[in-house]
Amino acid sequence: MNAVGALLRPRSVAVVGASADAGKMTGRPVAYLQKHGFDGEIWPVNPRAETIAGLRCYPDVAALPGAPDAAIVLLGPDRAEAAVRDLAARGCRAAIVLASGYGEANEEGGRRQQALKAAAGNMRLLGPNTIGLVNLTDGIMLSATGALEVGELPAGRISVVSQSGGILGSLLSRAADRGIGFAKLVSTGNEADLDSTDLIEHLIEDEATDVIAVYMEGLRRPEAFKRAARRAAALGKPIVIYKVGRSESGARSATSHTGALAGADRVYDAMFRQLGVIRAESFTDLLDIPAALVTGRRMAGGRVAILTSTGGAGTLLADNCGLGGIEVPLPDDATTERLATLLNEDQAAIGRNPVDVTLAGLQPELFRGAITALLESPGYDAVVVVIGSSALARPDIVAGAIVECQDRSEKPVLAYVSPHAPHLVRLLNEKGIPAFATPESCATLLRALRRPAVPPVPAETPADEGVLAGLPSGNLNEAESKALFARFGVPVTREHTAADGAEAAAAAARLGGEVVLKILSRAIAHKSDIGGVRVGLTAAQVPDACSAMLESLRRAGAPAPEGFLVQERIRGGVEMILGFHRDPQLGPVILLGAGGVAAELFQDTTLRLLPIARGDAEAMVDELKAARLLRGYRGAPPADIDALVDAVMAFAAMAGAAGDRLLEAEINPLFVLPEGQGARAVDGLAVLR
Ligand code: ADP
Ligand code: MG
Repeated sequence: MNAVGALLRPRSVAVVGASADAGKMTGRPVAYLQKHGFDGEIWPVNPRAETIAGLRCYPDVAALPGAPDAAIVLLGPDRAEAAVRDLAARGCRAAIVLASGYGEANEEGGRRQQALKAAAGNMRLLGPNTIGLVNLTDGIMLSATGALEVGELPAGRISVVSQSGGILGSLLSRAADRGIGFAKLVSTGNEADLDSTDLIEHLIEDEATDVIAVYMEGLRRPEAFKRAARRAAALGKPIVIYKVGRSESGARSATSHTGALAGADRVYDAMFRQLGVIRAESFTDLLDIPAALVTGRRMAGGRVAILTSTGGAGTLLADNCGLGGIEVPLPDDATTERLATLLNEDQAAIGRNPVDVTLAGLQPELFRGAITALLESPGYDAVVVVIGSSALARPDIVAGAIVECQDRSEKPVLAYVSPHAPHLVRLLNEKGIPAFATPESCATLLRALRRPAVPPVPAETPADEGVLAGLPSGNLNEAESKALFARFGVPVTREHTAADGAEAAAAAARLGGEVVLKILSRAIAHKSDIGGVRVGLTAAQVPDACSAMLESLRRAGAPAPEGFLVQERIRGGVEMILGFHRDPQLGPVILLGAGGVAAELFQDTTLRLLPIARGDAEAMVDELKAARLLRGYRGAPPADIDALVDAVMAFAAMAGAAGDRLLEAEINPLFVLPEGQGARAVDGLAVLR
């Protein structure tokens, strides 16, 4: 057993600073261990007591009869460090330090926390500033907090990891109220040593855990987390995360649009999606989604039947399903006929969805028949049963009928409890029917039940120092940036650089037709802001336009440019933005969105962490509102989406190969031309370290 295993399932526990007074906070851990029937050794440590709760008490850690598997330290921050040092010396595997007043408090506390970690040496540490852990599988509680007093909570197969202790207590009491059982709950607190990922890694392998719910404030080791999440996906154990920080504005880098568009929290979103981790959008979902997943049932498609005995609530659910991308299709003919015969109604009344069984809902036989007909219909992947007020008086009958029907099918059956009836929600959950009380959760729950594809692990592009060799630090100008992108297969405009108006005019003549003239300057990231872009010039117009550009540059006080850029004019197509930046926490990120000068206005963007697979690039396109434009909106020809996906992959390969020196890169706009005509980067920016 590793140290985390020893902590969650110790055979011996030292309780350092235990009090004989069970009414005191320091008296609780021993009492809790006994109350839950811990059958290992309990070793209270306290120099001022002979016995505690009938157990022999030891004067200090050195006097313990053996090396404890786990210890819980109840001393304040002034004495905890010495206790931790003694425990490590005694060979204890892992210790929990409950005290606060460390890194969460102030700088002084931060230093104290480092000293505590140092004192632990090779012993693992949970906390400080934690409320400890509860192992309901084995009836072991290592905590001193009343919030974790688990009176009636059934053991279940959901485990919880929470950085916040208060939230853990909140989840526990809410789950108890809803009849949702847990396997293990751990609060990681300040994470001086063991962090959420350590616990997730352990729980993934825990035989008693099928689903892991996580309350996350921050992530210390993203790479380890990614590995753990992939392992969980491979084992089919879903991870559901509620992550705070959604309101964080993420404008972390200023040069490109990409930085402003890729808020820190959106990068988390992208990472979770890539790993197959389910993100709970509301706190309620953090319990409801795991409760639905723990049944092990999954939807093969996205079609749901809603069975209701109250019209309003059925409509409410159907509406929320529609908003959340879940289909509520009409029953097929065979199912309609079956329902009509069963309920003795005419087919027009019954051939709807939600299926309204107003009166029949009170007759168990008919109710069972209707649920069964819907579950057996090949047109549905799940059934949601609405429990109306009429069921309040006879909860067992309703619950019993649903349980019976569920047992005869493999499809998910969920219950929406419409009136305020916590006892009904509890009863249903206890019987293994996921029950929820907020209609807004319906689509979220159903989406979570869609059988996930195990996310592919894309191949990493090895960094190659040669790629950026010879290029200066800071911003590259448009020509330099696009030349870099083009080496990896990004299609760019035909173009020439020119030193002055005469050279520029000659270049325009060589290109032929209407051209675009731009100022070429590393110092100017947004050229049109200072009159540095002229679209649609003839060669004859170019020299004057060059002079005018230089003049407006002078007026803006900008430094002398490197020269001019003359390029072919691209017509038609959809303007996209393709960007790259480094998230300070989670690493390299690629962004795709609706582009052009209004990119930040539309905020129609999607992100992925690198590396990506081609399937990721295709999914990115699908996620955009602009996907409709690309597919040919209102008579416009469909755009070359294949070429767009190729460009995304080429750009991603460029970013991977460029390595750490590449800070930001952006193509805005990337013109995606009509099908068969490819795509063209008309602008480019790269920022190097
Ligand atoms: P900025 O540095 O201001 O972003 P861009 O090079 O992106 O300058 O040019 C600004 C706008 O001009 C683009 O968004 C695009 O609409 C248009 N444009 C630029 N280059 C071309 C081109 N070669 N063909 C057609 N339109 C262009
Ligand atoms: Mg641009």
